[in-house]
Amino acid sequence: LGPTVTVGEILVEIMATTIGTGFLAAQPLLGPFPSGAPAIFIDQVARIGGAAGIVAAVGDDDFGTLNVERLRADGVDVSAIATIAGKPTGSAFVRYRNDGARDFVFNIAHSAAGETRMTAAAHKLIARAGHVHVMGSAFAIPGIAEILVEAVGSVKARGGSVSFDPNIRKELVQDGAGRRLIDDMLAVTDLLLPSGDELLVAAGLATEEAAVQHLLGLGIGEIVLKRGSDGSTHFSRAFGRVDCPAFTVDEIDPTGAGDCFGAAYLTSRRAGLPPARALLYANAAGARTVMKQGPMEGVSNKAALDDFIAAAGRELK
Ligand code: ADP
Repeated sequence: LGPTVTVGEILVEIMATTIGTGFLAAQPLLGPFPSGAPAIFIDQVARIGGAAGIVAAVGDDDFGTLNVERLRADGVDVSAIATIAGKPTGSAFVRYRNDGARDFVFNIAHSAAGETRMTAAAHKLIARAGHVHVMGSAFAIPGIAEILVEAVGSVKARGGSVSFDPNIRKELVQDGAGRRLIDDMLAVTDLLLPSGDELLVAAGLATEEAAVQHLLGLGIGEIVLKRGSDGSTHFSRAFGRVDCPAFTVDEIDPTGAGDCFGAAYLTSRRAGLPPARALLYANAAGARTVMKQGPMEGVSNKAALDDFIAAAGRELK
């Protein structure tokens, strides 16, 4: 089947270099770095060797060019990235608190990303897609949500598959429309990629076991739970439960770990690898991402992941 396709925001990230003072004082900044969860995800799909494309919109500016050229160089089909005159490429300014938490100043909804539409090029890419990856956060941007719904319908009608990274906030689910949106997505999801308590929130249940059984009962083929520095777990009817411990690394910047993890897992499975091996690649991709500053700077190709796994003595027989 055809390429893995995603739809969503492309932006640059610019980081504060001080901790605690935020942006209240002038300081040297780090960046711009290519960013946007869908962009990070699709870059990792391509770098690990999968066919990949993205529907998105950038401004006619350096921030847009920086992103498009990185994605193109890494092997992503950029034909459906529109350039919007008169709107800037989105940006996120990130600052760190003393306790390691991060605060963002976003300019996304009013950026070119807010003008993402179903263009002829987007239609062409989606018509070839074998898989669509959906992020819960994308539903916050109306134009993007509509394209995603159409892309999911199109790919499923042709026998393709869908992955869903819910990145949901509890507040969103308490609102009826948010809950319905998630339920509609769960009904068409083949691979669910929750992290932390998103598994429980998605299922609306209190225990991991109950949530997993409920979600598999909906027809979701596999669930892969991301556990940060505790690694990850696969659940399915076909393979049961498969745990994979994390790699031990120094975390420099957590941005992008979940997206790289999901991309490496999905692409490994689409290439026919069993869950245990796909989890190993996914954990390695997530770990390597947190070791580098910048959301997309830690994205790895397959050879780098193989070397990293071997160096940790974690090859599977
Ligand atoms: P998300 O970013 O979606 O919340 P996680 O934080 O769970 O997802 O990260 C995704 C994956 O990346 C984890 O399952 C793990 O394999 C890897 N990872 C994340 N943080 C670390 C870390 N500090 N050390 C080692 N691996 C990590």
